[in-house]
Amino acid sequence: MIFKEMDPKDVLQLLEGQENILAPEVKKHEDYVQKLQCVYCGGSCRPFVSPEKLFESGSMLPKYLAECNDCGSQFEPYTKIELRGPQRNPLEDSDPDKVDLFSIRPGVVI
Ligand SMILES: [Zn+2]
Repeated sequence: MIFKEMDPKDVLQLLEGQENILAPEVKKHEDYVQKLQCVYCGGSCRPFVSPEKLFESGSMLPKYLAECNDCGSQFEPYTKIELRGPQRNPLEDSDPDKVDLFSIRPGVVI
């Protein structure tokens, strides 16, 4: 199947005066994903649209997935099925000025 892109001016003209029914649905998905916590590290998540899984039947929106902002794992936001495991250790990106509790040795005074 070949898609022929419409002229953006023609698209805007066709949509003029029509109710935007997509924006509230997109916001609902984005809000849901942003409230999720990562199943691995508990970090915050961001929604993204995977180019490999663009649309599902019965939905007018692209398929939204979740990615952890801290460890980079990816999962399906409603079932929590893992698509990609952690890509980095969130503790490695922590603030270097924070005290490393594992480096403190009891009884040593500097
Ligand atoms: Zn994570």
